[in-house]
Amino acid sequence: MQYPTPRRQIIDYCMKMLDDGLTLGTSGNISVRVDDHVLITPSGVPYPDLTPESICLLDMAGHQLEGDLKPSTEVPFHELIYSRDPKAAAVIHTHPVYGTVAGTLCDSLPLIHYMLAPHGGSVRVADYARFGTQELADNVSAAMAGRKAVLLRNHGAACWGKDLAEAYMLCDYLEWVCKVWVIARTAGTPALLTTDQFEEAMTEITGSGYLPGSRD
Ligand code: 13P
Ligand code: ZN
Repeated sequence: MQYPTPRRQIIDYCMKMLDDGLTLGTSGNISVRVDDHVLITPSGVPYPDLTPESICLLDMAGHQLEGDLKPSTEVPFHELIYSRDPKAAAVIHTHPVYGTVAGTLCDSLPLIHYMLAPHGGSVRVADYARFGTQELADNVSAAMAGRKAVLLRNHGAACWGKDLAEAYMLCDYLEWVCKVWVIARTAGTPALLTTDQFEEAMTEITGSGYLPGSRD
């Protein structure tokens, strides 16, 4: 079995996203790119039942190389993110409550807080297509330019980064910003950052090397 360490890391982050309430049941999926291979969670397996052997090994075209279980239905959009963003080495797809609500209310998450800076700016909502389809992957492709996150209309969210820690941090902060926006919108008309204010904060965050942490 190749890549035992990243297999274990995937399982650890699956349990973390479940425990932190970023997804429910068997919803969501996680992948890691190692060299020219992709490791991804199997489809429909409860996270507490995962073992290193149950993680599927694919090539960059989505063909299965190792593992007896069926890979996640979302292989098309994971593979597409890796092909569109050469820096991406981990993708996390969640079904978070506020991110899913926000994805039904806007086409692009308004700049309500500077903690959208690590994502690259206002996170766009990919048009709806049924889970597991190439059409959903194409809609993700259309929404991801210059970002490390997308919301999926009537579905959930996906974030990616140089490793699982970064992808997870982005999922965690995205859900927090969506929660702030949904609650503010319910209470009234939220004030938003101007583009200048947001870009100033983004320059400070990226330029100073300041990178926020996530929950342990
Ligand atoms: P899989 O169990 O096939 O990964 O599907 C979960 C999901 O969230 C589909 O969008
Ligand atoms: Zn999903």
